[in-house]
Amino acid sequence: MMILKSDSDIRLMRKAGAIAAGALQTAGESISAGMTTKELDRIIESYIRSKGAKPSFKGYGGFPASACISINHVVIHGIPDERTVIRDGDIVSVDVGAYIGGFHGDTANTFMVGTVSDEARQLVEVTRASLMEAYQLLRGGVRLGDIGNCIESYVQQYGYSPVKDFVGHGIGRALHEDPNVPNFGRAGHGMRLPKGLTVAIEPMINQGTDKVIISNEDGWTVTTADGKLSAHYEHTFYIDENCGHILTQV
Ligand code: MG
Repeated sequence: MMILKSDSDIRLMRKAGAIAAGALQTAGESISAGMTTKELDRIIESYIRSKGAKPSFKGYGGFPASACISINHVVIHGIPDERTVIRDGDIVSVDVGAYIGGFHGDTANTFMVGTVSDEARQLVEVTRASLMEAYQLLRGGVRLGDIGNCIESYVQQYGYSPVKDFVGHGIGRALHEDPNVPNFGRAGHGMRLPKGLTVAIEPMINQGTDKVIISNEDGWTVTTADGKLSAHYEHTFYIDENCGHILTQV
């Protein structure tokens, strides 16, 4: 069931979104080679709590940290720990959620640490651009297939593949609400998204195959099946009559 938001709900979601975005911005300013993913997670959690919010992901389905931190071939859901050191040349996807006033904000960014390869940079830039292309399509009545196809066809120009096993989602009082928002699809097909809906659109784009593997060891970490790179961008959007609005901005 899709849950439409009132104007007062949107005011609260902007607040949650701004805190999530601020945490992500702080992560981007703090990230550096030599740091462990746990250190970065602590910085993110401190920021969120300093604003009176809670990290949406901590304890969600048993997830043990405040942010998902996923390096290079890790697609999503990397668990921050004391062993994993961020290195020069890494691309590091950081996914952050903040909960305050009864609502969630959810946003992700892939940071380039130090000097990254041209191919890694292109993957990151194309992934970000695919999200912004989808943003341009948002308006009341847009079809799910148009959003998915927009992202898929954009990244396929570069030989990249959107992940199929994980998708974006509605968001509000719950971190994950209906509908699922795939990063692939057929233009002109699928459900129409009404004005008043809030969705997290999150292209997870692989350099090679779209196939992914979920770790047997921790049950969370998702990696590319071929070991090639993956990037991830996400914003929480409000769908208005004639356009979309990004709620996850500082
Ligand atoms: Mg999300």
